[in-house]
Amino acid sequence: MTFSSLGLADPLLRALEALEYKTPTPVQMQTIPAILAGRDVMAAAQTGTGKTAGFALPLLQRLSTQGPQAASNAVRAVVLVPTRELAVQVYESIRAYGRHLPLRAAVAYGGVSINPQMMKLRKGLDVLVATPGRLLDLHGKNAVRFTQLQTLVLDEADRMLDLGFSRELNALLALLPKQRQTLLFSATFSDPIRALAAILLADPLCIDTSPRNTTAAGVRHWMVPVDKKRKAELFLHLLQRHGWGQVLVFVKTRVGVEQLVDALAMERYQADAIHGDKPQPARLRALQRFKAGDVQLLVATDVAARGLDIDDLPHVVNFDLPIVAQDYIHRIGRTGRAGATGEAVSLVCADEVQQLAAIEALIGQTLRRVDEPGFEPDHRVPVTDAAGRVLKKPKKPKKPKAGKATAPT
Ligand code: AMP
Repeated sequence: MTFSSLGLADPLLRALEALEYKTPTPVQMQTIPAILAGRDVMAAAQTGTGKTAGFALPLLQRLSTQGPQAASNAVRAVVLVPTRELAVQVYESIRAYGRHLPLRAAVAYGGVSINPQMMKLRKGLDVLVATPGRLLDLHGKNAVRFTQLQTLVLDEADRMLDLGFSRELNALLALLPKQRQTLLFSATFSDPIRALAAILLADPLCIDTSPRNTTAAGVRHWMVPVDKKRKAELFLHLLQRHGWGQVLVFVKTRVGVEQLVDALAMERYQADAIHGDKPQPARLRALQRFKAGDVQLLVATDVAARGLDIDDLPHVVNFDLPIVAQDYIHRIGRTGRAGATGEAVSLVCADEVQQLAAIEALIGQTLRRVDEPGFEPDHRVPVTDAAGRVLKKPKKPKKPKAGKATAPT
């Protein structure tokens, strides 16, 4: 199947050729014709499946062929995303796909001055990619009008709910015209997502290309048991021993991120950090430097886990396991994208056994354990099974008291 046979027009096909997209991904094969035909769509698609092009290509085509130009401050399509990073990324994809079309697009997110975003809106926009809070702020300042809105896209809708945006979402939805096309993308179809879809979508085409809660097929992932206090040492050791190039490293806390970056700098590694305490320009700069290959290591909290699109990233390291099991799938989805192969390594200490068990239950398999000689932990990580059970570790043999035998547990 080709993009042209899906009904995409020449300006988009030329852009895809330049990007070397040769064949549509499974999600694109289904979404493109349906969206072109004007249908509402609800798609369960993880990052890495090509979902952005899946909605952006037909959206751009419809905007270029249908409807009047945007009046001042009006937007013809809104793409709502949960994070600033995803906003920038989706916006960049839209610009790349639409480079031969005379459409105006912009991006708006919080944490930066609102004025330039208001200026962009003055002439009206075909597509606005925005985070919910900032879009509400813009509306509050009369900088955006939804009267001409023809399409609403919710990208990573589950993440939006996880991050507590449901109030903002509801407030926004109340402002939008009822007559519109709505496209909802979510990593999973959880109950809250289904409830949201029931309100938002009219006779949607439901697409579920990724089996629920599976990790991207091309990724090899395993864990190394280690004592908590030796994680940084182990990470440096693995980095050297495997000769890893670029690595995205996930750490639980902002403080932990900074500590690891400092430890890496002491060993003369080039590392940058992304977390919520960093001002937005610094986060974007760090991401761009990493993408450009100027920095070898990017250390991030889960803020950055979703939506980061870094091509051909071979290694992801979970320095700490995520608190929310689902984030494991999103984190390691940074590698092995669009058919590439990758490796994801988790450094797991005894304290994290419950998180490990929850992840294994979610993905329905136990993570392969690979002991690293010299780093075998004093506090052993209990054995787990694929059903999410923690099987007790055998106790260290005690000296038997008179008349009492120690039974192995
Ligand atoms: P997404 O799931 O939208 O984040 O896309 C994941 C990655 O796949 C991005 O780097 C896209 O540029 C890339 N991609 C999307 N569609 C295709 C395609 N049909 N062929 C090759 N790469 C693609």
